[in-house]
Amino acid sequence: MPSPAGWSEVPCVECGQRVPDIDFVERCPDCTARRKRRCVLIARRAALLAAALMAAWSWSRPPTSPTGQWYAVIAIPVVAVLVYHIANRVAWEFL
Ligand SMILES: [Zn+2]
Repeated sequence: MPSPAGWSEVPCVECGQRVPDIDFVERCPDCTARRKRRCVLIARRAALLAAALMAAWSWSRPPTSPTGQWYAVIAIPVVAVLVYHIANRVAWEFL
């Protein structure tokens, strides 16, 4: 399918390779996949770092009540998941 402007192939904005089915300011499927892999790698590292920091913080200041201990245990994966999604989105915008 030609692009909306009627071109059959347009150059990728990152690598310059002419590929069909993309618009003028888009990346080719290879560059998009490479970008997605980098974003996932950055997000995974940020999530691991955030989980380690949360675990260290909750270990350095142990909660006094059993409910607080459960909150501290639950907060570690919750922080990791939130940081993963936020870092993935931020990396997608800036890479
Ligand atoms: Zn490309």
